[in-house]
Amino acid sequence: MTYPHTQLFIDGQWQDAADGRTLAVFNPANGKEIGRVAHAGTADLDKALAAAQKGFETWRDMTPADRSKIMRRAAGFMRERAADIAQVLTQEQGKPLAEAKGEALAAADIIDWFAEEGFRVYGRVVPSRGNLAVRQLVLKDPVGPVAAFTPWNFPINQVVRKLGAALATGCSMLVKAPEETPAGPAALIRAFADAGLPPGVLGLVYGNPAEISRYLIPHPVIRKITFTGSTPVGKQLAALAGQHMKRVTMELGGHAPVIVAEDADIALAVKTAGGAKFRNAGQVCISPTRFLVHESIRNEFAAALTKQTQSLKVGDGLADGTQMGPLANPRRLTAMAEFTKDAVERGATLLTGGERIGDAGNFWQPTVLADVPLDARVFNDEPFGPMAAMRSFNTLDEAIAEANRLPFGLAGYAFTRSLKNADLLTRRVEVGMLWINMPAMPSAEMPFGGMKDSGYGSEGGPEALEAYLNVRAVAVMNV
Ligand code: NAD
Repeated sequence: MTYPHTQLFIDGQWQDAADGRTLAVFNPANGKEIGRVAHAGTADLDKALAAAQKGFETWRDMTPADRSKIMRRAAGFMRERAADIAQVLTQEQGKPLAEAKGEALAAADIIDWFAEEGFRVYGRVVPSRGNLAVRQLVLKDPVGPVAAFTPWNFPINQVVRKLGAALATGCSMLVKAPEETPAGPAALIRAFADAGLPPGVLGLVYGNPAEISRYLIPHPVIRKITFTGSTPVGKQLAALAGQHMKRVTMELGGHAPVIVAEDADIALAVKTAGGAKFRNAGQVCISPTRFLVHESIRNEFAAALTKQTQSLKVGDGLADGTQMGPLANPRRLTAMAEFTKDAVERGATLLTGGERIGDAGNFWQPTVLADVPLDARVFNDEPFGPMAAMRSFNTLDEAIAEANRLPFGLAGYAFTRSLKNADLLTRRVEVGMLWINMPAMPSAEMPFGGMKDSGYGSEGGPEALEAYLNVRAVAVMNV
C-alpha cells in the first residue's frame, strides 16, 4: 500500500498548510523518504482554534447517545480498515505489521469503551442541611476545547486514549500529533470524520512541537492540556500550563522495575517480561527495563533471557515473521550505542546484542546487559529501546528500595509464588501500574498513568473522564 501525503484536519476539512510548508517522513527500516506531512503555521492554528471552540459548542450540546453513535461508527471504521492502517503505520514507525494491526484494533475497543462510559457521567443530588425546599446539585460539565500532544511510539494509541475520554465527556480536541509518524493518527481522525463527527470537534495539526505548544497552551480557547512524551518536555509544558491555570494530564517516561523473587516461576518471568521487553523495539513507556533478579536464580534467569532474546527475528516490520522492527528514529540508535558503551565501561557484562545491525535503517540487536552497576546510565535514564538491564539482589526489601530509587513511577512488574511477597510489593512499589506474574494489560477500563516524575492523571477507567470534566455546585430553592 502506498504511503499517503498527510494533511492538516481543520474545521472538518483536510487541507495543506496555508503557506504550503511540509516536512519529510522517513521509513525507519531503510531511511528513505516515503512521504510528506503538512507543517502548520500560526494562520492554520488560529483557524483550528476557532473551529475547536465552535466544535465544542456543538458537541457539548449533543446527547451522550448521539455522541456515542458517532464514536461507535468510528470504531467500526477502525476495525474495517485495520489491515490497511497497519501497512501505513509500519512504514512510518517500524513496528511489525501484527503489532501495527493490533494497535488499530485496540483503538476501536478503546473508542467503544469510552462511547459507552460517556453515558455514565453522573452528578449527585445532596440533601440540604436546613431547608427541604433547597435542592443541591453536583453537576459535571465538559472542560472545553483540549490541546493534545502525542508521541511517535504508539501513533494511534496515544491519541485515542486522549480523544476517547474527551469526546465521551463532550469536549472538543485539537491534536498535535507526531511529525515523524503522521499518517497513523490521520487514519484515526479520518475514521471520526467519516463517521459524521461535526466540524471542529476534532482537529489535527503537525509542525514545530515547541512553537505549537507555546502558542496553544496559553491560548484562551484551550481549557485543558494533555501530553504524552518525555519527562523533561512534560515538566516544561506543565509549567507553562500552570502559568495560565490550565488543567493538565501528563503521561511521561518510566523506568519499569521487574522484580524476580527467589520463589518466582523463572520460565514464566523470562517468557513474559523478556517478551514484553522487545515489543515495539522497547519503545514503550511501560516497557520492562530494570530487571532485578534474586541472587540465587541469577544465572538461570540470565541464561534463559539471553537464549530467548537471541531467538528474536529482527527485520523490516512489513516482512513475514518479523518479531522486532527497527527503532523509530536515528536518535534511538545513537542512544542505544551510548547506553551500551557506558554500561560496559562501568563494568556491566554484555550477554547478547549491543551493536547496530547493518548500515541501512535503524536496526539494533536486542540487547541484554547483566551485573549493571547502579551508576550506569541505563539504570537511571529511560532506555526506550531494545535493552534489558539486569542486576541481582539478596532481600526483597533491597529490591523494593531499588525499584523506588528513581524519580519515575509508571509501571512495575514482579514475579513471585508467595502471597506475602505479592502483598508487600503491592503496598511498597511506587508505580501507577503494577503487574504481578503477568504481562501488562492496559485495557481501556483500567486506569493508565503514573506518579512522581512519570506524571499525573489517568488515561483509562472512569478516572480518564474525570480529567475532562468541571465539577459545579448548584443549589435551587423551590419558592
Ligand atoms: P523529545 O523529548 O524531544 O520528544 C518527546 C515527544 O515530545 C515527541 O513526540 C516530541 O514531538 C514532543 N515534544 C518535544 N518537545 C515538545 C514541546 N516543546 N512541545 C510539545 N511537544 C514536544 O524526544 P524524542 O527523541 O522524540 O523521544 C525521546 C524520549 O521521549 C524517550 O527516551 C522517551 O523517554 C520519551 N518518550 C516517551 C513516550 C511515552 O509514551 N511516554 C513516547 C515517546 C517518547
